[in-house]
Amino acid sequence: MIPFEKCPVCGAELKEKEVEKLLRGGDHTAVLRVRAEVCLHCGERLYAEETVRLFEQIRNKLKRQQLSDFQPVGQSFRVDADRNTNPIETDAA
Ligand SMILES: [Zn+2]
Repeated sequence: MIPFEKCPVCGAELKEKEVEKLLRGGDHTAVLRVRAEVCLHCGERLYAEETVRLFEQIRNKLKRQQLSDFQPVGQSFRVDADRNTNPIETDAA
């Protein structure tokens, strides 16, 4: 399944967990719950090949607006980060 026993990034131990994966295609976003091997040290996620293929299928459907398989769960919002990063004024010299 997954060709790694240790994290390929930092070499630490991997543990199978259920994770949320956000996928984007065009203007649409889908959230999936999938199994992944997660590094206990750096948080790197490794997905099985069939899981990666599923991601691609879903991205393509999102891009082509083939949305009938998906359940809407709320709206997505884009936030313009520039407007939310005003420097904080302090009295420090
Ligand atoms: Zn790692």
